[in-house]
Amino acid sequence: MVLSLDEQSNNRERYSRQMLFPPIGVSGQQKIEAATVVVVGMGALGTVIANHMARAGIGTLRIIDRDYVERSNLQRQMLYDEDDVLQVRPKVVAAQRKLGFINADVTVEAIVSHVTAENAEELVAGADLVLDGTDNFQTRLLLNDVCFKRGIPFIYGGAVSSHGMTAVFIPGQTSCLRCLLGAGDSGGDTCDTVGVISPIVDIIASLQAVEALKFIVGATGAQRQGLLSLEIWQHQMMDLKLPPARENCPTCGLRQFPSLQAGNGGGGAVTLCGRETVQISGSRALDLEHMAAKLARSCELQRNPYLLKALLPEGERLVLFADGRVLVQGTEDLDRAQSLYDRYIGS
Ligand SMILES: [Zn+2]
Repeated sequence: MVLSLDEQSNNRERYSRQMLFPPIGVSGQQKIEAATVVVVGMGALGTVIANHMARAGIGTLRIIDRDYVERSNLQRQMLYDEDDVLQVRPKVVAAQRKLGFINADVTVEAIVSHVTAENAEELVAGADLVLDGTDNFQTRLLLNDVCFKRGIPFIYGGAVSSHGMTAVFIPGQTSCLRCLLGAGDSGGDTCDTVGVISPIVDIIASLQAVEALKFIVGATGAQRQGLLSLEIWQHQMMDLKLPPARENCPTCGLRQFPSLQAGNGGGGAVTLCGRETVQISGSRALDLEHMAAKLARSCELQRNPYLLKALLPEGERLVLFADGRVLVQGTEDLDRAQSLYDRYIGS
């Protein structure tokens, strides 16, 4: 992109404080403006990360999320407001709009999608860096696998309650998230079962953002090593050494990338923990207009260009996305959800 003199001087002003910081400077700023960063998950972590990235002047910011804005998000998901709730905007659509007001020079690619084994490689194509804004280890391991397969650094972050953790995984240099987790995969608490306070999310996301800036400007000596664990209510902090890469790690050792094997990436029907919601990944895209006409006979509907929400006579709600996903809200019973899906969407 060639900037006019006026635009150049505007940019000098916009980024002046950041360029005065010696480790970034003018050349670091140029690298930031040339970078492509992917943020997966636009909840509490993702919105804070994207805010930092957009204000710093990242060239291309690709944001990916499967959900829409709900009232319970507003307490900590910094880019959203009450109008986004009323309009039932998908999170990435609301975020793209807000980020556009913040910095119109940033190219924001908004993707309403669930990351799966099938689409993960496409979603991170061209990325210099992938930042974790997700809320579950299944998706994190999938991102870990796709990043290590393609040699893209992956910056992990997670927060629940008043506690958070973050680490930087760089293919060829550090071990990976799968080495860290060992054989078991997490499970454990999620925000939807134990709650979360907003400062811990901001802190963890900001730590992810600063590591992203270091990586982009090439400040490798400053890159934080280890797994940082913070508890901010009692104020406890631990910086743990990352384990060495395991030779038999299926990701960074054996390069088998198990989460990328078809069927392991979170497709099918899954219960979204603590949310009384089942997500069913349909095998085909949905024509929302056609579905609205069909469902209008029996359901109360709410819709926008991105999704269709239907209140069923049975009491549950269906949220249909154009990519074929359907959320069945009001149940955690997979069979019940599947039967409602079959009844209203068809197989
Ligand atoms: Zn590993």
